[in-house]
Amino acid sequence: MFDGKAAIVTGSTSGIGLSIATAFARQGADVILNGFGDPDAIERTRADLAAETGVTVLHSAADMSKPAEIAALIGLAESAFGRLDILVNNAGIQHVAPVEEFPAEKWDLVIAINLTAAFHTIRAAIPLMKRQGWGRIINTASAHALVASPYKSAYVAAKHGIAGLTKTVALEVARDGITVNAIAPGYVWTPLVEKQIPDTMKARGMTETEVKEQVLLAAQPTKAFVTVDEIAGLAVYLASDAARSITGTILPVDGGWTAQ
Ligand code: NAD
Repeated sequence: MFDGKAAIVTGSTSGIGLSIATAFARQGADVILNGFGDPDAIERTRADLAAETGVTVLHSAADMSKPAEIAALIGLAESAFGRLDILVNNAGIQHVAPVEEFPAEKWDLVIAINLTAAFHTIRAAIPLMKRQGWGRIINTASAHALVASPYKSAYVAAKHGIAGLTKTVALEVARDGITVNAIAPGYVWTPLVEKQIPDTMKARGMTETEVKEQVLLAAQPTKAFVTVDEIAGLAVYLASDAARSITGTILPVDGGWTAQ
């Protein structure tokens, strides 16, 4: 479906981003992976995906909290492929604490990676997409772009911000063949969710099972975690020509969470 196209997926060495990048590569797009982790494991992932799909797969360790590194990431698509068709802003971190104890430097980091990074990638990517007369920008938001939960002030603020950025940019590029949408997952079982369990146990004085059942899946009527493949399936659809009239939307994939 995407032969000859080039995609960047930020935060794609793990979890949702890796699943989205894999799906785009399987549909024929050249892909730049981005994110942190063990260098050998990342290289294995990159080489395996390239071997399986036959597309070019690169990795950039650009830090999404650093504007100069973000500019270099977009520049890599231009220098390696001469184009950028699909941009997925997916890198994200979480920090869980009551607002009055929330470390200021954690607030800054969550806002930088989960929100400001998307501003920097988008502003650099749009001239390339306008030149092509075609582009797809997909932001991984969250159910927390639509509703809040306690102890996640920075994350909820960043994700609500991503929703606003998505709508605003969609309006600005509506006549340029570029769509801008956000996917709003409920709880997806990834390292990001796994890592926040100890802090939530501490903040709420709960056991691990209580956190899973009463905090995480309490909000999700299906009582099942969303899978990374379900998110990737929607990303592929949003990037397809069939979705050309879908723009400026925040699409929940949340087992009914935000229907309540
Ligand atoms: P994850 O921890 O598995 O993956 C996060 C990715 O971001 C990793 O590749 C990591 O290396 C990368 N990353 C972190 N900091 C970075 C930085 N400074 N620069 C570049 N890359 C960086 O998490 P995930 O659950 O797959 O989350 C991906 C996105 O999905 C995030 O934006 C998250 O907020 C969102 N999301 C997740 C869930 C969920 O339940 N897992 C729900 C809703 C939204």
